[in-house]
Amino acid sequence: MSETIFDKILSGEIPCHRVYEDEHVLAFLDIFPLSRGHLLVIPKERRAQLHELSDDAAAAIGRALPRLCRAVLAATGASAYNILQNNGSEAHQAVFHVHFHIIPRQGEAGLVIGWKPGQLANDEAEKLKSAIAGALEG
Ligand code: AMP
Repeated sequence: MSETIFDKILSGEIPCHRVYEDEHVLAFLDIFPLSRGHLLVIPKERRAQLHELSDDAAAAIGRALPRLCRAVLAATGASAYNILQNNGSEAHQAVFHVHFHIIPRQGEAGLVIGWKPGQLANDEAEKLKSAIAGALEG
């Protein structure tokens, strides 16, 4: 994995607006926010995408996220928010170090979602659930 801007933030080489740090996690303000209070939460473990994270790093992020969401809501007065976590450039990932966005909704400001649902046929559902459950056991 090549170095990203988040490595430079973690090492202190470039500054960030840090709001939280523990042994495994750093949270700081997004410099191009979709709304006021848009926060990024990253593991200190250096991995590009979520499925590559160790259980320990994932658990640390999972512990921190709800607390950070509560803090963003309290500080901004927002009552709705999205968690966004992009993996791969086709999925809009620009920085290849795992990160979770906390994006408060404030009127029109926030995450815009294009959601085009399909239909799940029973035979396809059967095939898919077997394939995914099988992969979990592998
Ligand atoms: P993503 O498209 O999920 O990879 O999002 C990367 C995010 O990182 C974007 O929302 C950027 O605005 C944000 N970002 C990039 N560089 C910095 C930086 N130096 N400090 C804070 N946020 C940054």
